[in-house]
Amino acid sequence: MIELSSISKRYATPQGTVTALEGIDLSIREGEIFGVIGKSGAGKSTLIRLINLLERPDQGSVRVAGRDLTALPPASLRRARQEIGMIFQHFNLLATRTVFENIALPLELRGESKAAIRAAVEPLLELVGLTDKRERYPSELSGGQKQRVGIARALATQPRVLLSDEATSALDPETTRSILALLKDINARLGLTIVLITHEMSVIKEVADRVAVLEHGKVIELGPVYDVFTRPRAEITRRFVGELVGGDLPPSLLRQIANDTATDPARRRVLRILFTGGAAESPVMSTLARRFDLDFNLLHGRLDEIQGRAFGNLVVELLGDPARLDAAVKYLATQQLGVESLNHEQESGDVVRLDRAAG
Ligand code: ADP
Repeated sequence: MIELSSISKRYATPQGTVTALEGIDLSIREGEIFGVIGKSGAGKSTLIRLINLLERPDQGSVRVAGRDLTALPPASLRRARQEIGMIFQHFNLLATRTVFENIALPLELRGESKAAIRAAVEPLLELVGLTDKRERYPSELSGGQKQRVGIARALATQPRVLLSDEATSALDPETTRSILALLKDINARLGLTIVLITHEMSVIKEVADRVAVLEHGKVIELGPVYDVFTRPRAEITRRFVGELVGGDLPPSLLRQIANDTATDPARRRVLRILFTGGAAESPVMSTLARRFDLDFNLLHGRLDEIQGRAFGNLVVELLGDPARLDAAVKYLATQQLGVESLNHEQESGDVVRLDRAAG
């Protein structure tokens, strides 16, 4: 649906040339929700604005629905852009227009008749749940309602692609969830391809099918959300995932693990178990206790779910017979879990990864 090939984009600034994007190749499929995540300055805005040519690449081509936008003359480009809707962090509504009039704007600009506009806008008001707010002005709406107007306006020309530029960044978590749910609903009902940029992994987790991680203008990681979350390769990706499930262990916990001298070290294992798509958490833990006749203490952990699959990590202390402890670790390795042993520590406090049994 969207093909970005060998894209580069530089900006000339008084301080010199800034490379915003370099060597971007991306292929976004029809009907998917594709997320792009990166820190501030990574190039996300530039990337999303290239898709409707609000920014022109210095090099490379942008194909949307089979057409090379970079090669189109202005009139054809205007028409092609009607197939690409966009929503913004700060909504970009016109303050002097009502909800209805804001949604109608793209159709007015296209010269549609009043009747055609009404026929198009009414169902959109319904779709975004604002039928009763049609005569209100933006200043009378909450942030979530404003974004709903933004979404309805973006859909007015019946686009095939919706671009979302940090559309939930100005909203509280609950409103964010409701807007993301609306985007998912629109994606499912209308088969719309959605490209969203964000700096929040929770947004990606909530809605995206696939994700690209952008750093210094390059795509450094790309894949289905579950795969990228559970097997992050780049340091920056690990950090994003850590925001969700706690990447680094609290220093107090590491000290506690290192300083426990009461228990015979041979009879004690502190493990971090990473749930990466194989087993679900509760059967694994109860099997460990029962089958291997071990005691366990849950020390720390955060679990989450992506597309119905467990994801996250638990830190557990297992106590018991040394041979049984070894057998328990071997068992974990057969469950498609990542296992790290934590009860060895360097002076710096860094965790030594002793046995990464699987992953
Ligand atoms: P993000 O959206 O991930 O924060 P941007 O795409 O806005 O990143 O910016 C990428 C890089 O390009 C940054 O270094 C930014 O300062 C620079 N940049 C973006 N737009 C412009 C511009 N119009 N003029 C000069 N530099 C720009």
